[in-house]
Amino acid sequence: MMNVLNKNVTRRNFLKTASLLATIAAIPVSVISKEAFAAKMAKASMQYQDHPKGNLKCSQCMQFVPGKSAKAAGSCNLIEGSISPDGWCLAYAPKA
Ligand code: SF4
Repeated sequence: MMNVLNKNVTRRNFLKTASLLATIAAIPVSVISKEAFAAKMAKASMQYQDHPKGNLKCSQCMQFVPGKSAKAAGSCNLIEGSISPDGWCLAYAPKA
C-alpha cells in the first residue's frame, strides 16, 4: 500500500497540491461571486402583489428598502423590480 502511495504521490506533487489549496483558501468569499448571492427572485415566483395581505405589507418587512418617501415605491432585498410599500409576497418577514 505504501509503495503505491509513494509511486503516485511524489513530494513535488504533494507540495504543488498543498500550495494550490492554500491559494484557493486565501481568496475572500466576497470575491468569489457577488452576483451568485445578489440574484433576486421574480415577483411571480413569490406571488408578489401590490396590495397588502390582510395587515401585512412590505413597509413592515425586514427585506423592504424604502423609496424617497413613505408612499414612494422602494425595492426589496429578495424580489426584483420596484416594490410598493403596500405590497406583499410569500417571503414576508416582519421587522423585529
Ligand atoms: S420580501 Fe416580499 S413582503 Fe418583504 S419587502 Fe420584499 S416583496 Fe415585500
